Amino acid sequence: MTAELIRGTVVAEQIRGEIAAETARLRETRGVVPGLVTILVGEDPASQSYVSAKSRTARELGFHSVQHTLPASTSEAELLDLLARCNADPALHGILVQLPLPKQIDEQRVLGAIRPEKDVDAFHPVNVGKLLLGNPDVLPCTPAGIHELLLRSGTELDGAEVVVVGRSNIVGKPIAVMLAQKAPGANATVTLCHTRTRDLAAHTRRADVLIVAAGRPKAITAEMVKPGAVVIDVGVNRVGVTDKGKARLCGDVDFDAVREVASKITPVPGGVGPMTITMLMRNTLRAAQRAAG
Ligand code: NAP
Repeated sequence: MTAELIRGTVVAEQIRGEIAAETARLRETRGVVPGLVTILVGEDPASQSYVSAKSRTARELGFHSVQHTLPASTSEAELLDLLARCNADPALHGILVQLPLPKQIDEQRVLGAIRPEKDVDAFHPVNVGKLLLGNPDVLPCTPAGIHELLLRSGTELDGAEVVVVGRSNIVGKPIAVMLAQKAPGANATVTLCHTRTRDLAAHTRRADVLIVAAGRPKAITAEMVKPGAVVIDVGVNRVGVTDKGKARLCGDVDFDAVREVASKITPVPGGVGPMTITMLMRNTLRAAQRAAG
């Protein structure tokens, strides 16, 4: 069996069309333009390219897009001051602080200083708590993107065995919580694995749906996958340079071998990655819609 590809690029394009249409409607009916501010501290090249992609996508969708680039020496007080101004600005519905932050700045204090209504990354403790309670206003972007890929590829989740590899606060833990909720499009039996899991393969081989966010190239081999499973590869690992001088990327799954065992699989690049930015845009649109009543 050669697995069908779940093409995040195509699904993301479709959802961006939906967002652009809703954005135009919001502007025409309520005079409201969704506003997104991105804040980058320092000059990390990967962070720079993520932030400029986010700002560019926001502009393409017809959003009001503001980008702040601060020097690496910025103090926590200066960043908190900027956040206070963004919190108070009615033209900004979403605030995104690009992580990681320089070490003199306390990440949790900064994330906690964003008004929960403007927290389009869904990292504020209030939004994390609401997600756990099954009553979220906003979903974290990468897990929301994974969920959309599962739903739009017709993957059965109700009663399914889902195994998540990786327990980070931004991917593993929230997707595990989302899929375990007592709700339509969820109701899965979820196992959350990590580096202290005793026999990883014994768990992954039971999975109807295997979601991998470990940050380890080829951590998942064909022998670790149940025939017919749906495999979502979240990993983005830089493993060299292409002929064009760009970073060569690979996921956490041994794609060529696992493709022969799984029924559906996401490629890297072109799988989960394009969905993450798209979900950020959808969160910003929803924040603007809520602000407009
Ligand atoms: P992270 O904070 O780096 O944590 C990795 C998690 O994987 C940890 O919980 C770790 O266990 C677990 N892990 C690592 N190696 C393992 C192994 N061999 N077996 C079992 N568990 C293992 O993770 P992250 O921030 O979620 O990122 C994970 C990957 O996804 C990275 O490649 C990242 O670049 C990518 N990512 C992609 C997107 C996207 O939009 N496509 C978004 C976010 C992240 P312990 O807790 O025990 O250490």
